[in-house]
Amino acid sequence: MFCLLLVAILSGVAVAQPSSGCDAVNIVSRAEWGAREPVSTTPLAQVNMQFVHHTVGSRCYTQEDCMAEVRGIQNYHMDNNGWNDIGYNFLIGDDGNAYEGRGWYTLGAHAQSYNDDAIGIILSYASPPIPNPIGPPSSGCSAINIVSRSEWGARPPKGTTPLSPVNMQFIHHTAGIRCYNQADCMAEVRATQDFHMDVNGWNDIGYNFLVGDDGNAYEGRGWYIQGAHAQSYNNDAIGIVIMGDFTNVMPGQAALDALNNLLGCGAENNVNYPYTIHGHRDGCATECPGNTLYPYIQTLPGYGGTLPPC
Ligand SMILES: [Zn+2]
Repeated sequence: MFCLLLVAILSGVAVAQPSSGCDAVNIVSRAEWGAREPVSTTPLAQVNMQFVHHTVGSRCYTQEDCMAEVRGIQNYHMDNNGWNDIGYNFLIGDDGNAYEGRGWYTLGAHAQSYNDDAIGIILSYASPPIPNPIGPPSSGCSAINIVSRSEWGARPPKGTTPLSPVNMQFIHHTAGIRCYNQADCMAEVRATQDFHMDVNGWNDIGYNFLVGDDGNAYEGRGWYIQGAHAQSYNNDAIGIVIMGDFTNVMPGQAALDALNNLLGCGAENNVNYPYTIHGHRDGCATECPGNTLYPYIQTLPGYGGTLPPC
């Protein structure tokens, strides 16, 4: 079954992958899934690219469910977005079928300026997706040294909002300076708190935890207080920041180990298990956590992919 599914996906998606092509994929036609008529169509000239997308919706595991999902997407694209038709050229479900959207010969609406250069194929993929059981190798709380607020000399918060158990953990970078020993890291954490309280006017340092290149974690708002790190996701996610700017370089191994142990430690506290891991940019319009750190986060087991915008 797995192989059949794989063949179905690969044959639709990849130019350079093993593929048996059209013979090996079952394409459910628009008539079969009950498509509405398009408002209008634009012919698509021969293209050189195929874009792969995922929906931020439900996964489907049977043809009946997938057809319902495809109809729902078409309704959304036509009625909410005001498009001429369902945006994608093809859709793929976990049932192993491909579903005809605009097909091979009609211009899609899936990737802005690339619509007339590329076929758009979308995989059904839940958001939050079904997460892998806890991601990175982690020994949890027992393996991480958390420097408490009193140890680093925190100012008292101006106010606090309790945080209910969450399903997500967001990873950030400060885009600021790195620190390699506890004294320097505590000074950097205090400076971050001052900036967030005095310049931003927040109640406290924004992050739930901070991680330094010294391999320590620093308690920000902790596991049980709502943070200020990712706009509309603050109530849904723990925010962990690695101190430094990781646009062009990676954090050191000590910081990455601390991050991974801290993620595991969350599940021993206020983070439901299993949880999903996201970079800040997965939910919000930001460069955070940096172009070099972000791909690492995407490789972590438990990585949960992109989310609806903040
Ligand atoms: Zn961030």
